[in-house]
Amino acid sequence: MLDPAEYKESEIGRIDVKNTTCYMCACRCGIRVTLRDGEVRHIEGNPEHPLNKGVICAKGASGIMKQYSPARLTRPLLRRKGAERGAADFEPISWDRAFEIMEERLAHLRATDPKKFAIFTGRDQMQALTGLFAKQFGTPNYAAHGGFCSVNMAAGMIYSIGGSFWEFGGPDLDRAKLFVMIGTAEDHHSNPLKIAISKFKRRGGRFISINPVRTGYSAIADEWVPIRPGTDGALFLAIIHELIKQGLYDREFLVNYTNAAELIDLDESSDNYGMFIRTSRPVEEGCFDPQNKLWWDRISNRPVDVRTEGADPFLLGEYAIDGRPVKTAFQLLKERVDEYTPEWAEGITGIPADTIRRLAHEMGVTARDQKIELPIQWTDVWGNEHQSVKGGPVAFHAMRGLAAHSNGFQTIRAMSVLMTMLGTIDTPGGFRHKAPFPRPIPPCPKPPKSADDVQPNTPLNGMPL
Ligand code: SF4
Repeated sequence: MLDPAEYKESEIGRIDVKNTTCYMCACRCGIRVTLRDGEVRHIEGNPEHPLNKGVICAKGASGIMKQYSPARLTRPLLRRKGAERGAADFEPISWDRAFEIMEERLAHLRATDPKKFAIFTGRDQMQALTGLFAKQFGTPNYAAHGGFCSVNMAAGMIYSIGGSFWEFGGPDLDRAKLFVMIGTAEDHHSNPLKIAISKFKRRGGRFISINPVRTGYSAIADEWVPIRPGTDGALFLAIIHELIKQGLYDREFLVNYTNAAELIDLDESSDNYGMFIRTSRPVEEGCFDPQNKLWWDRISNRPVDVRTEGADPFLLGEYAIDGRPVKTAFQLLKERVDEYTPEWAEGITGIPADTIRRLAHEMGVTARDQKIELPIQWTDVWGNEHQSVKGGPVAFHAMRGLAAHSNGFQTIRAMSVLMTMLGTIDTPGGFRHKAPFPRPIPPCPKPPKSADDVQPNTPLNGMPL
């Protein structure tokens, strides 16, 4: 804000309009901010911005309060000498004094026991920097807004498919025919999603919302499926159960782009029990999972290196290699979800078993029978050339409703498995990553391994989160 004492006569009442980006959530809508005499008076959507095309939500329009709220801290505050902790008795101090105090205290902690310094960062979109600061300081005690919001969404999906919703990727609603939204509040991926759903519905797409309450997005869905809070994982497991039972999974996608057909060591006397069988081929450089695993080829009926030219692996089955029992990963998944019937899920989720069966059937049949093919040449990760991209047009969007539970991480893993089985990842009409995602699975950055990794005056050996 301009100091009125410094106004030039000619500038009084001057109106400026600045184009900028809204930082009230991670959508990053384009906004136009009107200033009078240098003071923010009004915020509106920028109609020329490709993301929100002029749309602004109530939170974005309220961004003015971020500048002028009387509750906003504008100066460092120090607890008054002798005041009780919690009594809110502070005195303002200069930034120089604040830095002096912090330097002295932080230097002492860093030199003695860096983990005593805990840093918490809000939804400030600066986590790359604050995380780097924590790492360089040497403390593993770093946390952020996502820890009580949707971090499970990012962690579970990045761990399973290499990317996640919102800033990492999202539903391709320009091409989807069935859109399933689950556990999403209105503020999560707000304006871009509202615009996309509006276009999707005008095109005749079918929108199913699975949510405990019928407000916001659910109110405009073609079908609202009420669910008990925190039970979404049971629903996903039952849908996976049904897709396998009804044979409605995308075999081609599972074989070519997942580890579903790869063989797992089931020799209980082996240290490798429960792990992938790996050949002695040298592992690749970097943190990529080496492709030194095995398929069971149904043409030669023997184990072969994954992606051997001309091989066609079994997706299901139990075999033996030199007397060691092995099964495909997909076989283990099938056995794992055998007990997760729609009736079992009904008792947990409150969704009738017949509805769960119908949802599974609709997802599977839409993905299988309404495939989209676009004439776009591409080369896949294995170096194979393709003349077109194909996709089953079933798209999902999910957020905090799934993530913010103690079972959130595993719920989101189950949803990732479901999306994978439908073959709707990085395909038209399904889920599409945004650059630089997808990242390697499992993720490359690793947290410190033990307490010994936290040492005085030493950067942390790994990422704090
Ligand atoms: S959705 Fe709303 S809060 Fe989020 S960036 Fe857009 S205008 Fe701002």
